Amino acid sequence: MTNVSIKTEEVSKTFFALGTINNIRIPGSRNEKAADLAACRVAEIDDRMSAFKPESDIGRLSGNAGRHSQKLHDDTFRLLQKAVRFSHICGGAFDITIRPLVELWGINKKGSFIPSDAEIREALELVDYQSIQLDEESMSAYLEKPGQCVDLGGIAKGYAADEVRRILIENGVTSALINLGGNVAAVGNRPDGNPWKVGIQNPLAPTGQYLGVLSVTNRTVVTSGCNERFFIKDGVRYHHILDPRTGKPAQSRLLSVTAVCENSADADALTTAMFVLGPEKSLPLLYKADAEAIFIFNNLAVAVTKGLSNDFSLCRQGRAVIL
Ligand code: AMP
Ligand code: MG
Repeated sequence: MTNVSIKTEEVSKTFFALGTINNIRIPGSRNEKAADLAACRVAEIDDRMSAFKPESDIGRLSGNAGRHSQKLHDDTFRLLQKAVRFSHICGGAFDITIRPLVELWGINKKGSFIPSDAEIREALELVDYQSIQLDEESMSAYLEKPGQCVDLGGIAKGYAADEVRRILIENGVTSALINLGGNVAAVGNRPDGNPWKVGIQNPLAPTGQYLGVLSVTNRTVVTSGCNERFFIKDGVRYHHILDPRTGKPAQSRLLSVTAVCENSADADALTTAMFVLGPEKSLPLLYKADAEAIFIFNNLAVAVTKGLSNDFSLCRQGRAVIL
């Protein structure tokens, strides 16, 4: 699906890639070329990094698990390297070898299916980022265990958002808002000189109902939440962010967590890990990544880190707790 609208003073390009609907908005401009180039780059990233395409880098890498290593494109190799480095930093809460578990649970694909403990244990044996071998010289990767599969779903949209931002800036864009399936990145300010406003979704309400609004300039806003793909059975919410320690959907008292920082790939990996770890264990990660965060708890209470206290406002009465 591609839909380009050019008003006198705005380019807005909507397209499907990375399993989601994406939009690039360049107000005050007719720079359609920049939006086209950026959208092509997202499609290229999808072709290289999709776990669903057997011919993608990731498809081939997983297909050859336990057999031989796979030569990768530069960008796939670098993103794998970043993902593995981050897994070390967060103690494995973020783990791109999560795919066998993702397939087992099949959230949004298998109805309200809950796997048995034995099935979970079996899939968990394959979830181990430490068995990804990366060889910088040959730009190749190898998965040690037969059956292992990589899933960049927790980081690829962020990487793509960084690439879109880079391409827009290189093509002369000074003001834009990029939204890759809810993974937002801002270029500059709005054309009127004011910061971009990004709504923070109420995870228990229909899309577009916000709990708060964040002002951003030149930063990325990335959210991981239990409201994207889930089912509820016997009062329990089963969602798509899995805890590599238990093999089950993460239970960390959070409905969602949003990271705000410079680099969108960092923010993407960070939010997935923070959703698994919960707020207390997330604070050192935020500090290390020079990132700020918004935590929304199970009871819809909101806490934000100090650096956002001037940029975030709640839509309802009351105040967010400052961490
Ligand atoms: P996000 O919405 O960025 O938090 O990413 C969630 C997606 O990343 C899921 O749909 C899975 O494909 C994958 N995923 C789920 N759990 C993890 C995890 N613990 N570490 C890395 N990726 C994960
Ligand atoms: Mg993520």
